[in-house]
Amino acid sequence: MRLRNKPWAVKLVDEHPESVLQDPNPEIKIDWEKRFEDFSRPLEVEIGSGKGQFITTLAQKHPDRNYIAIELQTTAAGIILRTKLEKKLDNLQILRGDAISIASFFAENSVDVLYLNFSDPWPKTRHEKRRLTYKDFLKNYETILKPTGHLEFKTDNSGLFSYSLMSLNNYGMMFDFVSVDLHHESEEIVAKNVETEYEHKFASKGNPIYALHAHFN
Ligand code: SAM
Repeated sequence: MRLRNKPWAVKLVDEHPESVLQDPNPEIKIDWEKRFEDFSRPLEVEIGSGKGQFITTLAQKHPDRNYIAIELQTTAAGIILRTKLEKKLDNLQILRGDAISIASFFAENSVDVLYLNFSDPWPKTRHEKRRLTYKDFLKNYETILKPTGHLEFKTDNSGLFSYSLMSLNNYGMMFDFVSVDLHHESEEIVAKNVETEYEHKFASKGNPIYALHAHFN
């Protein structure tokens, strides 16, 4: 998803360095403790948040947890920031940058949950390394997740889903939940699900939504 550049969003991001960290230097440790009111709370991170419907909903629902949205595009980061400011979500921070450097963004064993929602599929074989479930990314996730932590992944793309199942399995991850039609699971599972923008769009067209939860051994 490439959003059209919105000058207001770029300006808003520049005006709020206390809420948005831009292109952090991988050599310098990020002081997250300074950015959150209470850093002892559980920490949940979404990679590729887009306009932020998912992470802002979670941050509003769970004021007792901390959230970080990682997003490449400044316009998308600005849209997330606007919602954060409107809803006064003090437990949400935005990192405008590339998840390729995720291992430098967080201390080892510091993240409770990592969310990958409707990640870019990169269908060409020569782009496999860019998929967010490629083994090199998994290695970084393993480093930053707490031993009790886990990964949650949703997509409408069957190719990316089957690739991810194989990649996680080959890496030795354990699956806690797998669905090939999330929106038609039990009432309890459906009620707990928080939709993303993409999920809403594809599910409205009748496309199945694939999901998995997994942890490292
Ligand atoms: N998660 C949202 C949803 O489900 O509606 C947006 C999905 S959109 C297809 C993928 C998003 O991931 C885009 O906003 C894109 O800019 C972001 N993205 C892609 N690769 C990324 C990376 N390496 N680091 C950070 N963000 C990334």
